Amino acid sequence: MIVKQIWTANAYRNFNYLIACGETGEALAIDPLDHEKCLKAARDEGWNITQILNTHEHRDHTGGNEAMVKKTGAKILAHKNARDKIAGMDRALSAGDVVKVGKTVELEVLDTPGHTMSHVCLLSHTDQRALFCGDTLFNAGAGNCHNGGHPEELYKTFSGQLAKLPSSTLIYPGHDYIENNLRFTLSREPDNDDARKLLDKVGDQDPAKAFVSTLDMERQINTFFRLTSPTVIAKLREAFPDLPEKPDQRTVFLKLRELRNAW
Ligand SMILES: [Zn+2]
Repeated sequence: MIVKQIWTANAYRNFNYLIACGETGEALAIDPLDHEKCLKAARDEGWNITQILNTHEHRDHTGGNEAMVKKTGAKILAHKNARDKIAGMDRALSAGDVVKVGKTVELEVLDTPGHTMSHVCLLSHTDQRALFCGDTLFNAGAGNCHNGGHPEELYKTFSGQLAKLPSSTLIYPGHDYIENNLRFTLSREPDNDDARKLLDKVGDQDPAKAFVSTLDMERQINTFFRLTSPTVIAKLREAFPDLPEKPDQRTVFLKLRELRNAW
């Protein structure tokens, strides 16, 4: 499996991805908003884009579909409940489905509601797993729930699915928000040395050569995985004085999501 992360350099800070089979040169494009950059990258590598995967229905993820289909004839894949939201969908995906790219690449579909209610992530069946997580999980952050999402569902996705993936899983999100998100982590947990060190390292990174984290690292630097940290809970109590003595993880997650919205 060959992964190419494509920095769009647009105002929304989108990342697009190409995933290719090294044997056949067939490629899948994830959320190819910047269809021109994606097509050029494929051309440069000698790849043939045969499938488009939309992680969810938002326009900054689907806006490149039409132009890319026109150029390549690629099939569009997305969550089964996105049928009435994404034009020209060819394949409706459910949890556990496998998306094949060429001969060598297999990607497992995870049904991951929260940011929207028809959101999928792809998990590679490689020795070192890779997760293409759209707007569900970001480096040091979590997706918002403003446009068709639900915080309770996002919590269930984090705790029930993402948190259980292997520690070494590589994280490939739909946007470059790492700097701002690390600042939020540090606002909630000022004594988080790992977050501070990483901010020093990536604070002025070139997103065209973006740092790629692992799930293990996210557990250290992502507030939405640090629901039992005494500092996170103590700081949260400053904002929510009624917080119980030992709040459950769901409560902490939902309060953090609320604070992040206002931050
Ligand atoms: Zn979105």
